[in-house]
Amino acid sequence: MGSASSAYRVIYLDVDGRTQKVVFSRFCSPCDIKELFCTATGLSRNTTISLLDSTGAMICETVNTGHDYGCGLFSHLSDKEELFQNVLTQVAEQFSRAFKINELKTEVTNRLAMLEKRVELEGMKVVEIEKCRSDIKKLREEMASRNNRSVTSLSFLDDNKKLTPRRDVPSYPKYMLSQQTIDALRKPTFDVWLWDCTEHMYHDLGLVKDFNINPITLKRWLLCIHDNYRNNPFHNFRHCFCVTQMMYSMICLCNLQEKFTQVDILILMTAAVCHDLDHPGYNNTYQINARTELAVRYNDISPLENHHCAVAFQIFSQPDCNIFANFDPEAFKQIRQGTITLILATDMARHGEILDSFKQKVDNFDFTNEEHVTCLKMVLIKCCDISNEVRPMEVAEPWVDCLLEEYFMQSDREKAEGLPVAPFMDREKVTKPTAQIGFIKFVLIPMFESVMKLFPQIEEVMVQPLRESRDRYEELKQIDDAMNEKKKSENLTMGGKKK
Ligand SMILES: [Zn+2]
Repeated sequence: MGSASSAYRVIYLDVDGRTQKVVFSRFCSPCDIKELFCTATGLSRNTTISLLDSTGAMICETVNTGHDYGCGLFSHLSDKEELFQNVLTQVAEQFSRAFKINELKTEVTNRLAMLEKRVELEGMKVVEIEKCRSDIKKLREEMASRNNRSVTSLSFLDDNKKLTPRRDVPSYPKYMLSQQTIDALRKPTFDVWLWDCTEHMYHDLGLVKDFNINPITLKRWLLCIHDNYRNNPFHNFRHCFCVTQMMYSMICLCNLQEKFTQVDILILMTAAVCHDLDHPGYNNTYQINARTELAVRYNDISPLENHHCAVAFQIFSQPDCNIFANFDPEAFKQIRQGTITLILATDMARHGEILDSFKQKVDNFDFTNEEHVTCLKMVLIKCCDISNEVRPMEVAEPWVDCLLEEYFMQSDREKAEGLPVAPFMDREKVTKPTAQIGFIKFVLIPMFESVMKLFPQIEEVMVQPLRESRDRYEELKQIDDAMNEKKKSENLTMGGKKK
């Protein structure tokens, strides 16, 4: 419907039964109005539009160039009312659609904005994930270049494949330990360069039988343990074996099975086996100073020892390697707690604290007191961990070279990275005798002598060899010193001659 006035023109449109008022300036020409209608409704400009009054009568007819606005709009079709109605209804429909399109437009715009925001956020996530990936790749490459690590290592949990234990136990030709070997294995003098017999020890101590350990699981577990020691000069599987064998020999020598429960024996052996798992070859000081992932993860508190424990229990979490599978939850908890306590006790930063605590108890030692027993177990694993000098010289001495090699590897790296270097690790400052004398005199002998108070039998087989080793290194040092003096005086003499 339409109407006109002198100041402005008003057209009323019937849009879905609602009357919409459209106001035009009186300066609008019919062409302008037609143009506006066509634009708003999306109709072609050649369309002919008819205007009717409120009674339904056609107001005016004009051709496309229509100039007589006062006569209204355009039509040349028909006088028939019906036709006008139809046409106007169409116009109304087009307007209605146009209004809906606007609503739709707003909605689409809003949705687009939301989508854009999401894409932006997702994009940021993708960037972060990519960064993580590249960091992990870099770390892997760095670690691979640094260590010749075993393929099935658990390490930093970055590869699920590494968690997979060996499903099938390789069929080794079954070797029988001779009685001579079995006897030798019980003594600290055992040549650990020759044999790996941890499995035998678990059987011999009655642990397999008493705890109903599946012998195949025991084999798989030990293979997995072997795979999770790295090929460091010192902290490798052979060191693990030495510590375990020394523990076994102390259990035998001190008749610990008469004083301790089998659970304690199992904890002592298992902690010894696991105590350096996945050792990276750089000590806690390096980890902390270099702010490594381990130091950050464990807040600088015994990062390595915490890591050894974590790797140990990741291995136990695999059913194929879980030698404690038959334990009830309470017993497992006890084994877990005991093992963790012992492995954490191997951090040499805690040496003074642990030894002092033991010294306070040793004179009134009570094997029924849990705290006393735990403290003794901590000292025992500490003794075993640093017990190389208890062994015969031909076994012990190569270990000093291995340790110094690992130390030099660290100090070289510390120098390269501008980190502090400990003098005892510095290839410019340390010699074998100087490295060993202080360690044997101030760390090893005092600790073994404290244990000797409880177990006098260790004096002959353990403490005495330590004293002999100390004396030997002191002699070596005297020879070194004499040689150095000689060199110095020769240099002086040569210098004098030159002058
Ligand atoms: Zn160790």
